[in-house]
Order: sequence, then structure tokens, then C-alpha cells
Amino acid sequence: MDVSRRDFLRFSVGAAGGTALSGLAGSGVNLGPVVAQAQELRIKNAKVTPSVCPYCSVGCGTLIHTIDGKIVNIEGDPRSPHNEGTLCPKGAAIFQLHVNPNRPTQVLHRAAGAAEWEVWDLERAMNRIAELVKKTRDETFIEKLPNGKLVNMTPAIFSLGGAIHEIEFNQVHQKLMRGLGIVAIENQARI
Ligand code: SF4
Repeated sequence: MDVSRRDFLRFSVGAAGGTALSGLAGSGVNLGPVVAQAQELRIKNAKVTPSVCPYCSVGCGTLIHTIDGKIVNIEGDPRSPHNEGTLCPKGAAIFQLHVNPNRPTQVLHRAAGAAEWEVWDLERAMNRIAELVKKTRDETFIEKLPNGKLVNMTPAIFSLGGAIHEIEFNQVHQKLMRGLGIVAIENQARI
């Protein structure tokens, strides 16, 4: 049984509180058309930009809908040959990656032994990371193994990347890490 948007609103108002939806679904009513119509209204007149889910190496194709430069919806791209418009639960939540009041937007630093987080500006944080990387590398650098084999490496730094890093980033990242003598490098990227 299909239901129009008008029927849906009528049923919703007539039924008691939160039981309306479950009652409709439980009685075999197909809510698909109503949901589809609501979705269509939400993205009507939106600009559509093709993109790729950032979360894993499957790289599912997505469509990003924006209105006045703001993201209003992200969904699977039906033209993508391997996900054909679908997204897994993680990918289906990409919208919250961008629009999320809980997302940290500042660098937070907690000094060793401290109980409180301190807000740092990005430049200060980057300088501190560079300082610690150089110090650690200088203190642990191994030029040759005991048997004389040349290795030019540090075993004290591990680089762990994520799935949102694409080929170009990883190309540059690998060059930087290898150049520093870091050999423990792992990521979940499309390389
Ligand atoms: S939608 Fe899921 S399977 Fe597809 S790329 Fe994103 S995380 Fe991977």
C-alpha cells in the first residue's frame, strides 16, 4: 500500500504522538514515496558536486548537495560502478563529518602530567611537532647496523595515516617520512 504526502501528514496528526510512524510502518504502509518526496524537497535547487567517501579504501562515489555554499545533503552516487548509489552506515553519516557541533575546531594541547586541555594556535602546534620530530630523530638515528649495513633510519617514530588521505597526499607524505628515515608507515589509503 502506497501513501501520499497528504495521507502521511493526516495519519501523523491523527495518531497518538510517536506511535504514528511505527503504526503506519507496522500496518504495511509503504513510507518509501513520502520519504523520497521529503528528500527531493530538501535538495531541490541544490548544486550537486560529485565526490568520494573519505572513510575507506573502497572509495564509494558520492553526490554533495549545497545551497548557498552550505552542504545540505550527501548521498551515494548511482553512477559509481562499485557502490551504485549505496553507502555503508559509516559513509551514510559523512554529512556529520562536515556539519557537526561536536567536531573540534581548535588545536587542544594537554601537557604531560596536566589535567586540563589548553587551546593552541595551529602555528604553535605545528612548530612544536616539528621540534619534537627533529629531537627524536636526532637522538635515535641509526646510520649503520652493527654488521656495517647502511640503513639511515629511526625506529622511534611511527606514522599512522587514515583513510581520508588520497594518493597525492600519500605520495608527498611517503617522501617526507622516508626522507626523515622513518620506516614504520601505515595507512588505510587508496594507494
Ligand atoms: S561508504 Fe563505506 S564502504 Fe564506501 S568508501 Fe565509505 S566507508 Fe568505505
